[in-house]
Amino acid sequence: MALDAAYTTPDPSLPELLAERPMLRMDPSAGLLMEEVPLARIAAAVGTPTWVYSATTLRSRARALLGALKDAALPAEVHFAVKSNPNLAILSLLAAEGCGADVVSEGELRLARAAGIPGHHIVFSGVGKTEREMRLAIAEDIHQINLESAEEAVMLSALAESLGRRMRVALRVNPDVDAGTHEKITTGKAENKFGVAIEEAPELYARLCRMPGLEVMGLAVHIGSQITGGVRPYVAAYRRLGELVSALRAQGLPVPRVDCGGGLGIAYRDEQPASPAALAGAIHEGLGNLGLQLMIEPGRWLVGPAGMLLSQVVIEKQAPGRRFVILDAAMNDLARPAMYGAWHGILPVSPAAYRAPASPADVVGPVCESSDTFAVARPLPALPPGELVGILDAGAYGASMSSTYNSRPLAAEVLVEGSQWAVIRERQGFEALLAGQRRPDWLAPA
Ligand SMILES: *Cc1c(COP(=O)(O)O)cnc(C)c1O
Repeated sequence: MALDAAYTTPDPSLPELLAERPMLRMDPSAGLLMEEVPLARIAAAVGTPTWVYSATTLRSRARALLGALKDAALPAEVHFAVKSNPNLAILSLLAAEGCGADVVSEGELRLARAAGIPGHHIVFSGVGKTEREMRLAIAEDIHQINLESAEEAVMLSALAESLGRRMRVALRVNPDVDAGTHEKITTGKAENKFGVAIEEAPELYARLCRMPGLEVMGLAVHIGSQITGGVRPYVAAYRRLGELVSALRAQGLPVPRVDCGGGLGIAYRDEQPASPAALAGAIHEGLGNLGLQLMIEPGRWLVGPAGMLLSQVVIEKQAPGRRFVILDAAMNDLARPAMYGAWHGILPVSPAAYRAPASPADVVGPVCESSDTFAVARPLPALPPGELVGILDAGAYGASMSSTYNSRPLAAEVLVEGSQWAVIRERQGFEALLAGQRRPDWLAPA
């Protein structure tokens, strides 16, 4: 099994997991708290599985990132990658902290606008924008569209021209660097589908500048996600981009902006991701002295550590040589372990379970797939039916990647701030599973 395969060190203990996550605390009587709210109280009120997010953590991460850019004297805007967590309350909170949005679909553009993010703080990325999506981006007069190919540029230019408009665009360049991350989330190598090869960029950029429907603003890059091997891949990518900016300007082409992408990793287990200050340093080194308007597009770094998936034990099952803890959360809720073999910390909520002796357990969901596995041989206490657990660092690519596979309605989402908490997305009802479905009348009536 791919799960946990990348790790050679022993799993962190429960106190170690807790010590690294300041928004969480184990109260001797109320159990695990997020900020000041007992997670057991949330489970009792809204049921499980439920996504729970810490507003204070979201705010402090947004401030840390914006602060690091400011300290490095970089004129850089932060566009939150909406795909990592598109909840309206979270978008609104981040917008209030000064973040714009990086969107990859019409749905995300509409959500960002609904959260009050103005068009001029929205960037549209993605390899397959439809004409309908381009039309909406033009109508909303967004900050820029990041183009991924010559073909797309031709399509957008013709559309904008037909509307009597010129659309601001950047050209996404593939710098051919290995971000050293999981193969399914690396995007900046030559063989990936994203952007145009850096060797082709000068000619294509000049061509874009001649297209009547485009106002060419600069370049964009995004080399991958969950980058944890230090800032070296960033430094390499931004140096190459800086050289390209200079080469284009030497040809007399305007390059006012560079979008530096996202990808900053987080510590799910014991990874050592680069700090925002180190990222700012890498941007400064490659692009700082070119008088550019800069932007970054972080998703995971902002929201990942701020969220957990709160779940209840359905049953513990003993098999020869194995203990299975079966949760009411599953791969349809949190897909990352099944999809990427991702490791997530798991903490019991009750103080008694937290202190009880641990033994290896496989933590699984009830979905009919062997990949519906959250952890293998994880040291955990006995977890009888009804015990609550928190699956940690689930704020990014958690709820946003959920499905209703196995006809399981989407889980509720809750936001905590200090001693307040609120449902920010209701649990989907079973009627939603039937909504919109029809039986054609040539089928025999049931
Ligand atoms: C997914 C994505 C991001 C965000 O990536 P994170 O790893 O969540 O920071 C940024 N930009 C683009 C173009 C993306 O596709």
